[in-house]
Amino acid sequence: MHELSIAFSLVQLAAETAEQNNLNKVDALRLRLGVFSGVVKEALEFSFDIATEGTMLEGARLIIEEIPLKIFCPQCEKEYVLQNPVPIKCPECNSGTDQILEGKEIELYELIGGG
Ligand SMILES: [Zn+2]
Repeated sequence: MHELSIAFSLVQLAAETAEQNNLNKVDALRLRLGVFSGVVKEALEFSFDIATEGTMLEGARLIIEEIPLKIFCPQCEKEYVLQNPVPIKCPECNSGTDQILEGKEIELYELIGGG
């Protein structure tokens, strides 16, 4: 499962970050997850529990902030946030674009320590 390997990478990154910040315990992790990242949120949450087992992050919560898809339309020369990520088209002029500004990220951005 794709999400499981991502969860293991996240746990490793979080553990290293916690160490660098002298956190002995992590209560929660905040993650930005783009709707176009190819990751299923529920699957990642499930995988996270497996990946944290037996690590210093065991019992920590994964807080996922979903990032909508934001594109740039070269026709309108404007940025748009798409409500439906597929198909990737400008909601104004309907032209296709491959300029994705946001929505593909899988980004760990905060560790909340405790204990
Ligand atoms: Zn447009």
